[in-house]
Amino acid sequence: MFCPSCAYTLQKLEVHTDSGGKFEVDHCGRCGGTWFDPYEINRIPYHEVIKLAKVTVLPHKQPLSLRYHLCPRCHKLLENFHSESVPANIQLLRCSKCHGIWASQKALEEFKTNQETTITEIKAEHRVFPALSVVFVPALFIALLFFTTFITVNNLNGARENRIQAAYLIGPVSVFTLSDTTVTIVFQTKAKVLSSISYGPTIFELSTQTISGDPTQNHNIRLTNLKPNTLYIYRISLTDNEARKFTTEEQSFVTEKF
Ligand SMILES: [Zn+2]
Ligand SMILES: [Zn+2]
Repeated sequence: MFCPSCAYTLQKLEVHTDSGGKFEVDHCGRCGGTWFDPYEINRIPYHEVIKLAKVTVLPHKQPLSLRYHLCPRCHKLLENFHSESVPANIQLLRCSKCHGIWASQKALEEFKTNQETTITEIKAEHRVFPALSVVFVPALFIALLFFTTFITVNNLNGARENRIQAAYLIGPVSVFTLSDTTVTIVFQTKAKVLSSISYGPTIFELSTQTISGDPTQNHNIRLTNLKPNTLYIYRISLTDNEARKFTTEEQSFVTEKF
């Protein structure tokens, strides 16, 4: 495979995800560009982007020497690619046939930085939401709320302890995009437990599916028929051998746009 930017031979380099997974990208050691098969660009962690940059022979100031950028797989002309997750100032090129993406070293760094910022913002918005709904509680209920505060505080403490216990039991959760409507969720637990997942586009529309119906430490589930380009909220419940149920905090993933 040849570099779409400078025609140098691309070399296969192994990239490690934060969850212990790995895949190969095709990297140009001369201009620093990288070719990603579909979805791979979403999975590469930022520290691996830095590692790729170090492999490059001439990391700086290398001008693009080719006038037309062709897909290294299909040799089709690559097109500028923009979506909600790729702002106009970030120049990614995409093959309309195989959907692979070519990113220069600069674009890749900008894209990953932007992606991390967006994910942090999405998480922040969802933390704020339950607090906002409290503002709209009609005044009549305030007296009632006053009486139930004591119970609520106790429940909240219980819920918090429950979440801490869940966080202790569960390892890092990986979400792998298989298509624009399918993801696989994989995680391990410190003890053998049963597990289930509740997920949906909002906290009020969560549906629950069993992940592991028998006690195990290795859990994985494929979620299908998702809406493309949509933020999903999920939480995972674990049931231990004493039938105690622990539920994680809400987390989120965004399905791919196609
Ligand atoms: Zn190159
Ligand atoms: Zn292609």
